[in-house]
Amino acid sequence: MIPQNSFTLNTIGIIHSCYKEKFGIPRQPGLVTEATAKLELIPPYNRLDTVDGLDGFSHIWIQFIFHACLNENWKAKVRPPRLGGKAKIGIFATRATHRPNPIGLSVVKIGRIYQEDQRVFIDLYGADLLDGTPVLDIKPYLPYADSISNAEGGFAPAPAEVQKKPVIFSVEAKTQCERYEDLHNKKITTLIKQIIEQDPRPSYLSEQVDREHGIQLWDMNIKWCARNDHFEVLRIEHE
Ligand code: SAM
Repeated sequence: MIPQNSFTLNTIGIIHSCYKEKFGIPRQPGLVTEATAKLELIPPYNRLDTVDGLDGFSHIWIQFIFHACLNENWKAKVRPPRLGGKAKIGIFATRATHRPNPIGLSVVKIGRIYQEDQRVFIDLYGADLLDGTPVLDIKPYLPYADSISNAEGGFAPAPAEVQKKPVIFSVEAKTQCERYEDLHNKKITTLIKQIIEQDPRPSYLSEQVDREHGIQLWDMNIKWCARNDHFEVLRIEHE
């Protein structure tokens, strides 16, 4: 007999992230270390009591909902970008976003845990999460149990060896980034470089050069394109 097969889960928090749309978000956490985000606990979990003791840990597991995929169907076999978008493998052998239960899992470095008025926040570094992502649960990362040095990595044995082509900034983009860094004290140049270095283009566009792409970070649209042997950041447009 199948036990209870449907459950109601409550959102315990919301992600505030620099990534305002899916395109450009790295494929796993830790790849873009300069990306900053906050996890905000929502009522009735917005009490420092719920995270008491968490400050002794450097990383947490975040279980979340792929909320930007909720209206899209899942398929039994998918084409992971790591296989060049060519080979198909079973959904449960991948970390694909379109799944029977749209639940994601990311291990993320944490910083300050603090309260402002009635709001409780945890600073996150290197997250792969879209702004507004609903969080179902957080758990401390336990190195003794969660780190397995001899684990097999299947079709993704190591971080993607994307062609780390250099990222070059046009004079206009460089000036815009410098101005932004002076005003906001955020390392936007490094952030943009780390994101574009990952080559976020879908596999079917990965051979195309000179085509303009846009990545939405906060209120900025970063315009860039791939050249033959490098990526070029063209300019930053403000929304
Ligand atoms: N680390 C997580 C996991 O393994 O479950 C996510 C991996 S998934 C391959 C990473 C992609 O999820 C990102 O590139 C981004 O486009 C997408 N993503 C992140 N947050 C999302 C959200 N709230 N809704 C839909 N897609 C999201």
